[in-house]
Amino acid sequence: MSTIFKKIIDREVESEIVYEDQNVICINDINPQAPIHLLIIPKKIIETINDIDIDNKHLIADMVFAAKKIAKNLKIDKKGYRLVFNCNDDGGQTVYHIHMHLLAGRKFTWPPG
Ligand code: 5GP
Repeated sequence: MSTIFKKIIDREVESEIVYEDQNVICINDINPQAPIHLLIIPKKIIETINDIDIDNKHLIADMVFAAKKIAKNLKIDKKGYRLVFNCNDDGGQTVYHIHMHLLAGRKFTWPPG
């Protein structure tokens, strides 16, 4: 099922793309929960983390690798940041095209809310 993220990837909906490579894009979250709140999204539609399988598991590595590069570019790598996947209702997922949140710019607490 296509979501707003696929429309952004296909440039049907305008959004500032802060990073892009062959497999992923990165955009600012529309409702930021921290001074830096980015979404790293694979171009391929995968609805939830439950749909990761042997054929697409490399995309998770691509997303984390992109996060690492973006964090270094933004000079937040040393201070720190948080990477989050929400899965399904209890996990707080609202857009059913997997994405990883990259949050930074403030101190995060644990456990999360
Ligand atoms: P989830 O709750 O599924 O883990 O995260 C979805 C995220 O997408 C939310 O943080 C929400 O603010 C963000 N979001 C929803 N619609 C849009 C949109 O149209 N543009 C952008 N940039 N972010 C969006």
